[in-house]
Amino acid sequence: MTKDEEIPDCVDAQEFYDKYETKEILGRGVSSVVRRCIDKRTSQEYAVKIIDITPSDKTTPEEIEEIREATVKEIDILKKVCGEDNIIQLKDSYVSNAFFFLVFDLMKKGELFDYLTEKVTLSEKETRKIMRALLEVVQFLHNQNIVHRDLKPENILLDDDMNIKLTDFGFAMQIEPSQKLKEVCGTPGYLAPEIIGCSMDAGHAGYETPVDMWSSGVIMYTLLAGSPPFWHRKQTLMLRMILAGNYDFSSPEWEDRSDTVKDLISRMLVVDPKQRLTAMDALNHSFFSQYVVHEVRQFSPYRRFKVICLTVLATMKIYCNYRRAKPVTKEVIKSDPYSIKPIRKLIDACAFKIYGHWVKKGQTQNRAALFENTPKAILMSIAAEADEPIHQIW
Ligand code: ADP
Ligand code: MG
Repeated sequence: MTKDEEIPDCVDAQEFYDKYETKEILGRGVSSVVRRCIDKRTSQEYAVKIIDITPSDKTTPEEIEEIREATVKEIDILKKVCGEDNIIQLKDSYVSNAFFFLVFDLMKKGELFDYLTEKVTLSEKETRKIMRALLEVVQFLHNQNIVHRDLKPENILLDDDMNIKLTDFGFAMQIEPSQKLKEVCGTPGYLAPEIIGCSMDAGHAGYETPVDMWSSGVIMYTLLAGSPPFWHRKQTLMLRMILAGNYDFSSPEWEDRSDTVKDLISRMLVVDPKQRLTAMDALNHSFFSQYVVHEVRQFSPYRRFKVICLTVLATMKIYCNYRRAKPVTKEVIKSDPYSIKPIRKLIDACAFKIYGHWVKKGQTQNRAALFENTPKAILMSIAAEADEPIHQIW
C-alpha cells in the first residue's frame, strides 16, 4: 500500500506551505509542535499540529513508523467525529516524508489547564457547564465505541465563548463492541486503575471505554479542588494510590462544596470499572439537574407548609453557623492565616501567579505541590525544574 492510499485526502507538504503561513508556537506535545497559521488567501487563522517523522539520533525507524501509524489513526478518528459541537474540527491534513500537518480551528483561549491555573479553582456552576459538555462528548464517543484514552485539562481547549473543544485524539481507538485493550497509554495522574493493572499483569483481562470516565472524574475533582485527587512526588506511590482508589475530600477547598458534587465524583472514581458510572449515568446525576428552571407550579397546602418548615430550619442553621464563626483577629491572621478562607484564596492565587508557569513542566511538578504550602515542597519542585539538589536552591 502506498502512503497516499493509506492516508486519503493527504497531499504533499509544499501544498501546505503554499496555502498557509506558519506563526508562533501555541503548544507542544511529545512528538508534535502546534503553531498558529494563516490561510494566505482568506487571512483566516488556524492552528497546525506538525508531527515530525524524520529519522534522527533520538528515534529509531520503528518508533518513526509507530508515530506514522498513530497519526494516520488520529486523522481517521478526527474525520469520524467531525461535526460534533464540543470536538475540535480538523480542516485539512497534509503529509510529506518528514512531517504531518494537521490543520484545526484555532482556539485562542487555549487550554482548560491554563484557565484553571489562572483561576486556581472553579465554582460548581462553571464546573457543571464544563463537565456536562465533556460528558456529552464522552457519551458520543462511547456510543461509537471510540475510547479517547488521554482526557486531561491540557487536551481540552476553550473557544471564544468559553465552550470546550476536546482535542488530541493521538491515543483514541475505535474498538469492537466487546473488545478489550491492553496497551498502556495516557498520562500518569489520569490513568484508570485497570490500565495500570495491565502494565503490572500480563494476564490482565484488559480495559474498555470506562477508562475515560475515570479520567473525567479526575478532571472534575481537579477543577473544583485546584489540585488532583491522586498525586505523589514518587510516581510508583501515586500509581499505588490510584490502584487502591485512595483519595479524599479533606482539603479545605472541599469545605464549601455540595454533597451532590462529591457524590458524583465518588461514583466516577470507582476502582471497579463495572461499578463506575457511564457517561449517560453521570449526565443523569442530580448534580446536572440542579438549577434547571422548571415552570412555576401551584403548591398544595401540605407542600407549602413543608417549604415554610424547611425555610425556617435553614435560617436557624445559617444563624447558628454565624454565631459559631470565630472572630478574625490580628492574632489569628498572624498564627494561622491559611485557616481563613479569603486569605487562603489570596495565598493560593498569589502562589499560582508566581509559580503557575511550572505546574506543567514535568512529572515532579504538579499543581498539587502548590497546595502543599510548605516551603520545602515548593523548593523541591524548583529544584526538580532546575535539575539541582534542593540544598543548592535553599
Ligand atoms: P500532543 O498529541 O502532542 O499532546 P495536542 O493535539 O494535545 O498534541 O496539542 C498540544 C498543545 O497544542 C495543546 O495542549 C494546546 O496547548 C495546543 N493546541 C492544540 N490544538 C490547538 C488549537 N486548535 N488551538 C489552540 N491551541 C492548540
Ligand atoms: Mg496533548
